[in-house]
Amino acid sequence: MAPKLPIYLDHAATTRTDPRVVEAMMPYFTEVFGNPGSRNHSFGWAAEDGVDKAREQVAALIGADPKEVVFTSGATESNNLAIKGAAMMYAKKPAGETGRGHIITAMHEHKAVLDPCKRLQKEGFDVTYLEPGKDGLITRDMVEAAMREDTILVSIMWANNEIGTINEIPEIGALCHDRGAIFHTDATQWVGKMPTDVKTDNIDLMSFSGHKLYGPKGVGALFVRRRRPRVRLTALQEGGGQERGLRSGTLNVTGIVGLGKACEICAQEMDAERERLFKLRRKLEDKVTGALSVTQINGHPDKRLAHLTNISFGFVEGESLMMATKEIAMSSGSACTSASLEPSYVLKSLGVGDDLAHSSLRISLGRWTTEEEVEYTADKIIEAVKKLRDLSPLYDMHNEGIDITKIVWQAH
Ligand SMILES: *Cc1c(COP(=O)(O)O)cnc(C)c1O
Repeated sequence: MAPKLPIYLDHAATTRTDPRVVEAMMPYFTEVFGNPGSRNHSFGWAAEDGVDKAREQVAALIGADPKEVVFTSGATESNNLAIKGAAMMYAKKPAGETGRGHIITAMHEHKAVLDPCKRLQKEGFDVTYLEPGKDGLITRDMVEAAMREDTILVSIMWANNEIGTINEIPEIGALCHDRGAIFHTDATQWVGKMPTDVKTDNIDLMSFSGHKLYGPKGVGALFVRRRRPRVRLTALQEGGGQERGLRSGTLNVTGIVGLGKACEICAQEMDAERERLFKLRRKLEDKVTGALSVTQINGHPDKRLAHLTNISFGFVEGESLMMATKEIAMSSGSACTSASLEPSYVLKSLGVGDDLAHSSLRISLGRWTTEEEVEYTADKIIEAVKKLRDLSPLYDMHNEGIDITKIVWQAH
């Protein structure tokens, strides 16, 4: 049976809010509308109870103490608070000077990590951007090789949002603890999908977001370790002193309640869901790569998220491929910048060529993805790629055994 169209396979970009989450949020728009900062009446206390419960639900999912959870507007804000807040707190020299401290991150991090790091470079910090392996991984040894006497902060994402590869996070955390550097991880694609224990995983600071784990948009959290070591941050936003002074502003009670509920559901269901999605993803990959030559799955074959795949198709033009599959929502290996279509910097950092990067698809499955949808998608991709290749003279030459990389093109 043909599935209902369009099909959504872009869960790494955002997820639908689970109806159970919406239901939990509803009373907090109306009856329970108080400001949790209102300490002297029952309206405030009721709202505060909702926030307290959510803080416990979030903490339980990641093995933290509720006091270690700071609510934010999402992972972008959490990353900014973690990276800039730690750099300012642990700076070795005052503002205006250079050599204020060394930071290690990676080339294929999310922009919400890279851009705060670039800002800090302008403000006198040194930043090393590690190049991932061809498999997309950042290992403990890569971080160790980049460590300096003055390294104050390491920020490495847990799972990559474009290729789903999983970095050596507990090992990198242990290294940082040995060397006295603060360790932050952007775990936006990881939390809620994979078991997490901030204590045994050696995390000091961890960012994540509601809308990537079936909660609402505009709410997220930052885990801030309180013991061994006690991590301190300079607040970026000042005002009413909410969230222990780290994030002033009236709390987004409805969003926070939704994030809490979303975390509770993930804690209960993620193991079964991961297994189900892993099988579907494998089916999709096997079907597509079995039917089509010159395809490659980007990133490490095993050290990757269960629900996400990134496939490059040789001899097809990326834009045409997206057009031919437009009833399926997926991401392409191109990013629209203002003027042009740029190949993904993440794929580039793995050494994927521009052409292949453009003709790549990121497909991310989710809670309501069905087997029918996956079958339909695989068939549609196969059909589209075959059609496009039929029109490609380069593909003909490739099939005739001509190595097209060796052709010297004549200018006329
Ligand atoms: C989506 C995403 C972000 C940004 O999260 P927002 O909550 O939308 O600000 C940051 N990092 C990664 C890895 C992401 O996937």
